[in-house]
Amino acid sequence: MVASQNGWIAGATDRLNTMATAEATLVRFPGGVRSDAPGQLLMVVAGRFHREVEPLIDGQCWGYAYRPIRGATSISNHASGTAIDCNAPRHPLGTEPGATFSGSQIDAIHRILAAAGGVVRWGGTYTGRKDPMHFEIVDGATLADCQSALDTMRSRPSVPPPPSSTMQKGSTGDTVARLQRVLNDWYPDQPQLVEDGIYGPATEAMVRYLQAAAGLVVDGIAGPKTLAVLRLT
Ligand SMILES: [Zn+2]
Repeated sequence: MVASQNGWIAGATDRLNTMATAEATLVRFPGGVRSDAPGQLLMVVAGRFHREVEPLIDGQCWGYAYRPIRGATSISNHASGTAIDCNAPRHPLGTEPGATFSGSQIDAIHRILAAAGGVVRWGGTYTGRKDPMHFEIVDGATLADCQSALDTMRSRPSVPPPPSSTMQKGSTGDTVARLQRVLNDWYPDQPQLVEDGIYGPATEAMVRYLQAAAGLVVDGIAGPKTLAVLRLT
């Protein structure tokens, strides 16, 4: 039997989920993850990433794939269902984490990794080529280690995201940056917003665009109905 880089058997037949969902979201990880503790732990991490780092985008998250590590001969941890990629196109292989994540987002990732007790490793911390989309079970972690980390994470509620209350022209802060990021993801064909946390004319125009498309009152104010469409409430 062939093992992936971290020692788990590749092509595992106990991978029951072909459409695993991150907890509390409907984001698909095509291919899924192992159905037992390592996979469940990765989905808990993904759920926290969604709430505390940035919203996961359906279609941009990946799970099982039987393939070598890109550019190497060893088998990828994706091949044993013990690795996931979060918002992959946004955080390309080989880029520095700071190029696509803000400092506070990187802090949030480290907080999540700490909660997982060191059982989950982030590709953004690789010493060589960085892989900031990638999370995996560390080499040497046992099933019991994964179960213990899972129990710990499930017993401690995650830090809730900042509430998204009504935003409009002149609003500033992390919640505005989050709104801008989601709008960019929703409308990749539109001129992309600078995700600077400042609700200026371009952000207002994009909100108007969304409101028109969603059949809402077009006022350029991101109020409860608009935020609900974007699942930001
Ligand atoms: Zn990966």
